Amino acid sequence: MAARLSTCLLAALASNHSAVFTPSSPNYNSSLTIYNLNIPILPAAVTYPSSTEEVAGVVKCAAEGNYKVQAKGGGHSYGNYGWGGESGEVVVNLANLNGYSYDNSTGYATVGAGSRLGSVTTSLYNSGERAVAHGSCPDVGIGGHATIGGVGPTSRQWGATIDHVVSATIVLADSRIVKVSETEHPDLLWALKGAGGSFFVVTEFVLRTEAAPTGGVSYTYSFEGLNATAQAQVFRDFQIFISNPNLSWEFYIMMVGLPQVIEITGAFFGSLDDFNALGLEQAFSIAPAANVTVIPNWLDMVAIWANEAAAAERPAYFYAKSLDVMPNALLSNETIDSMFEYLTTTPDDALTYQLEVQLVSGAMAAVASNATAFPHRDVLYWIFAYAATNGTVSKTTIDFLDGFNDVIYSAFPNENFYAYAGYVDPLLSNGPELYWADNLPRLEQIKTIYDHHDVFHNPQSVPVVSSDKWL
Ligand SMILES: Cc1cc2nc3c(=O)[nH]c(=O)nc-3n(C[C@H](O)[C@H](O)[C@H](O)COP(=O)(O)OP(=O)(O)OC[C@H]3O[C@@H](n4cnc5c(N)ncnc54)[C@H](O)[C@@H]3O)c2cc1C
Repeated sequence: MAARLSTCLLAALASNHSAVFTPSSPNYNSSLTIYNLNIPILPAAVTYPSSTEEVAGVVKCAAEGNYKVQAKGGGHSYGNYGWGGESGEVVVNLANLNGYSYDNSTGYATVGAGSRLGSVTTSLYNSGERAVAHGSCPDVGIGGHATIGGVGPTSRQWGATIDHVVSATIVLADSRIVKVSETEHPDLLWALKGAGGSFFVVTEFVLRTEAAPTGGVSYTYSFEGLNATAQAQVFRDFQIFISNPNLSWEFYIMMVGLPQVIEITGAFFGSLDDFNALGLEQAFSIAPAANVTVIPNWLDMVAIWANEAAAAERPAYFYAKSLDVMPNALLSNETIDSMFEYLTTTPDDALTYQLEVQLVSGAMAAVASNATAFPHRDVLYWIFAYAATNGTVSKTTIDFLDGFNDVIYSAFPNENFYAYAGYVDPLLSNGPELYWADNLPRLEQIKTIYDHHDVFHNPQSVPVVSSDKWL
């Protein structure tokens, strides 16, 4: 069976031996540059198609041989889902599909699905200073970003990366090449915007673009050496500040840190005077060390975020979780105290751990939660907890992060908490329910229509369901 797959893939890829790696290929092991070292994966084949037609050929070979398929974009899935997330899949590495063009008349950019965010940002800026919303890490792939969400510093102004997708070229499970847009297969465009990896391989995106901000203010307020009580106070002040419903959409803020330092960091896409008028520094009852800089242009601003993200981009052994906080269910003072008490008193067994608390709302909430497969539109802020270890992640570390989320869950026994599919947690037993919430039943229907053999699969992809479930 493996030999038949290899023969079929080679025929699909113009007999190019450097475009197909199987376990018997000499460079197979060095071709596996997985991101989360805690999840080793041995694919059945790693392929490097150079065109949409070649992608279709790969999908055909895989489907005929009953192999599962995942597209690999930037390879930054927390669960290595671009590699399949489990051994034995056929990987469609899109690295060669990295074309770019820009249409001045529409303001639309056509972007190869194998491009990384860094190159997309630069190309857009060089096309008359254009931009789209995206996260801060330049090595993340547009493929995984624009099919899952893509939330970043301009999301409060412009929404997520998915909100910029106008149309796309995709390869379906039956290897058909189709275009999806509001008028062609709108159900698939809807599924693309939050769950694309479960349905097809996107080979090209057409993105609606915005005028890039003309610089702005970059700021970091640091709180060092605080005990748990003082850290909790910083969080309380932070939550009060970000829960103001009138906060400017040009304002972006995150809390990053722990164990030793908490940083309140972000950007304001406006003048220094307008930033100062927000009163952020005065919102904290404990005085921070302040670093506020006016940044003259968009690429310099993006470079600051890229620099901050550099360490996180490297492969590591880690475990991570996400959790949403809604505007009508803010954390109480007691819950915040319990969180920080928990963090300082519970064994973690990690080299390092980090909390990242990111305000969303604004333009993110201006889209209905059923308008795209990504459902989490009303979230006020996300809490992302991450722990990296020196080798295989231990149960102590997993329990440490699970227990942290439990502190919050237990304060809201009647509240449903969800998770972001961009930061998958492979240990969640109900991942699809938490990633896609009320949009899951519609996704299951679309999956069953277009991919009823579940060709596009990872351990937490949208499942195929019996049609009885639709009634
Ligand atoms: C260091 C780091 C920083 C991050 N920062 C942010 C952030 O600021 N904001 C944010 O929202 N997220 C962020 N993320 C999460 C990131 O957006 C997601 O993990 C994203 O899915 C990664 O995309 P990728 O192409 O790099 O990954 P991959 O592992 O290649 O792909 C991830 C998933 O997307 C699917 N996929 C990829 N390309 C395609 C395609 N062309 N067609 C169909 N399916 C495809 C894959 O099959 C897989 O299921 C970050 C992740 C890391 C590791």
